[in-house]
Amino acid sequence: MPRTSPRSAAVPEQLGFAGMPERLFVCTPSKLGTFTDCPRRYRYTYVDRPAPPKGPPWAHNSLGASVHTALKNWYAVPSDRRVAESLPTLLKSTWVREGYRDVEQERIAYRRSLAWLETYVRGLDPLDEPLGVERVVATKTAVLAFNGRADRIDSRPGEQGPEAVIVDYKTGRSGLDADDARGSQALALYAYAAQRVFRRPCHRVELHHLPTGTTAVHEHTDESLARQVARAEDTARDIMAAEKAVASGADPDVEFPTRPGSLCGWCDFRRSCPAGQEVAAKEPWSAVEHLERPSG
Ligand code: SF4
Repeated sequence: MPRTSPRSAAVPEQLGFAGMPERLFVCTPSKLGTFTDCPRRYRYTYVDRPAPPKGPPWAHNSLGASVHTALKNWYAVPSDRRVAESLPTLLKSTWVREGYRDVEQERIAYRRSLAWLETYVRGLDPLDEPLGVERVVATKTAVLAFNGRADRIDSRPGEQGPEAVIVDYKTGRSGLDADDARGSQALALYAYAAQRVFRRPCHRVELHHLPTGTTAVHEHTDESLARQVARAEDTARDIMAAEKAVASGADPDVEFPTRPGSLCGWCDFRRSCPAGQEVAAKEPWSAVEHLERPSG
């Protein structure tokens, strides 16, 4: 859950001269989430220029990107080719090879990914045309100019007519539950924006976990979406306050503090960060090693 620092709670709304439009904070869910996870990581990613060097690519990111692109391209082919037999070609043509320990590990990851996809698409109706696939949705609030790319936005019948449903694909090791769907600020912001872009209700958000073939669902209300937007605005105010303080000469290490934790081992900037250097490094392929085991 985004946290509001005591300092930022005391920072007034953006001041600005009367009658002048106020500057909106341009953001994606990833940008807000990065600050919430660790303000220092936010600074390394979005503020410091030149940015500190990143570590090597991660195999799990390569796998996730490959599966996402295959599903995007599955919807791009004509409906008569939306069959499991198309998947090897789709997956192979955009497979990302970076980060794996060796070719054998990469082959195992490819076979696993293909099996997940084959199971997944058998549950899809090839005639369905989603409202959007990897679709950017954007909207503004009093504080945010938000944009984000949703994996898929479905059109489904609702009580009052067609509704939009946000679908997010997941390929990580652990299964997900309704709490994950409920707590995801990214999904809520996509739903909030999709309502405005498509001019129809959008309250349902779904996490589709391909390795287990399970779906975690949450039905938002207008109130719960508004709460998530308000939290996102709090985070944006925190970020703007920190950036403004640094621009006025404050110490960037103080304004963007480290937040050491379990994410440090997976952080791209671990080697540049004083807190990260105290954490044991993960191998780029650590998060896909379980796929090599029979139960993986
Ligand atoms: S290593 Fe940890 S504390 Fe440092 S920037 Fe990354 S997540 Fe933050």
